[in-house]
Amino acid sequence: MKDSCFNEFDPNALNVEDALSKILNSIKLKKSYDLVKLKDSYKRVLAKDIKANKNVPNYKNSAMDGYAVNISDTSKKDFIFSCIGESFAGHPYTGKVRSNQAIKVMTGALVPDSCNAVIMKEMVEEKDNQISIKSKVAKNQNIRFPGEDIKKNDLVLSRGKEVDEIDIGILASLGKSDVYVYSKPLVGFFSTGDELASVGKVISKSQVYDSNRYLLHGLLQKYPVKIKDYGVVKDNLSSITKKLKNASSECDLLLTTGGVSVGDADFVRDALNKIGKINFWKIAVKPGRPLAYGKINKCLFFGLPGNPVSVVVTFNLFVNAAIKKITGQTIKNKLSLLAKLETDIKKRRGRKEYKRGLLTVNKGKLFVKCLSSQGSNILSSLKNANCYIELDEIIDKVNKGTYVKVIPFELESGCYE
Ligand code: AMP
Ligand code: MG
Repeated sequence: MKDSCFNEFDPNALNVEDALSKILNSIKLKKSYDLVKLKDSYKRVLAKDIKANKNVPNYKNSAMDGYAVNISDTSKKDFIFSCIGESFAGHPYTGKVRSNQAIKVMTGALVPDSCNAVIMKEMVEEKDNQISIKSKVAKNQNIRFPGEDIKKNDLVLSRGKEVDEIDIGILASLGKSDVYVYSKPLVGFFSTGDELASVGKVISKSQVYDSNRYLLHGLLQKYPVKIKDYGVVKDNLSSITKKLKNASSECDLLLTTGGVSVGDADFVRDALNKIGKINFWKIAVKPGRPLAYGKINKCLFFGLPGNPVSVVVTFNLFVNAAIKKITGQTIKNKLSLLAKLETDIKKRRGRKEYKRGLLTVNKGKLFVKCLSSQGSNILSSLKNANCYIELDEIIDKVNKGTYVKVIPFELESGCYE
């Protein structure tokens, strides 16, 4: 008889933290990297720390259209300067500006060393190359100094950072045209199940469309990985073993869905046992259990559950961390918030639960409703939700009005104020 993982309180089931540390401890980062063009570094992971090789900005320049002046006495409230030249962005004024002289400057234009303030154009009166201002002028006002944005030799971006659009802008401001990023690992997946039909085909009453492969494909798009879809495999030990062997010889990480439980048609664990090593397969999480984690030679392997919601939850909790590690990313916790519960919740003790919730903001305060459909087969429960409500193992019920931990899916969700 197969070991049951459905005991309400299974002492052998790992909690989320232990499962995560087992996963992360089992992964060694491959150090290979590529040199890519700056634009192609978007969403790739930096393989080296990046230090500033120069100051940004590189020269003293004007923050305004106006006049760069040389003031010897800043205690006055009334000034007259004679305007002796112009400095445009890209066309600097190269002469010397003496005391009580000014030059006309545009935003971004070089401010000569001899000038110690820029006065906004709108603040002065100009007549016959004389400019006058009837107010105080502060030393260094409206001047942007070298290194004000980034100082030469500063650590600008750290190895392990996924490059975003701001990083690309920063790297461009330093003049970097190429960037070292970690090579993309190959992540493969296949579905198991005799009941699965491919999209686009007519299905019979006993079939379901294979949504998991599409879910996984979508989920993987967010990562700097190469993706390979190995299709669908029937529920039998030899087919699953063969496919696992073949796919694991190509991939750095392999995911399957379905067939990992204790039913008579669940062969994924047996197949993994035959050709690889199981690290763990029971986790105290709902939705999500069972989930098999192990290795086939060097290839990391996750046997995810068959139910689509469980696929998404276990992917978010565990596969995400594994991918971050193999792609060289620094692993950070997801943002969590406390929100006031608007519905009662019941759960079983002994496992962590991730209920799908609807988070709203009212007058700056956070509220969360636990959605009524929580079945792990009900994918639309994820569509209608915008957060997980994370409930610890020791909890068996939570009353309306209690503050609970929520993990938002996307901060931009339309359900926020
Ligand atoms: P299993 O873990 O194989 O027992 O599957 C659990 C449930 O998930 C069953 O109702 C399956 O029909 C369903 N399921 C398994 N694989 C898929 C898939 N690729 N797409 C959609 N549903 C699936
Ligand atoms: Mg199945």
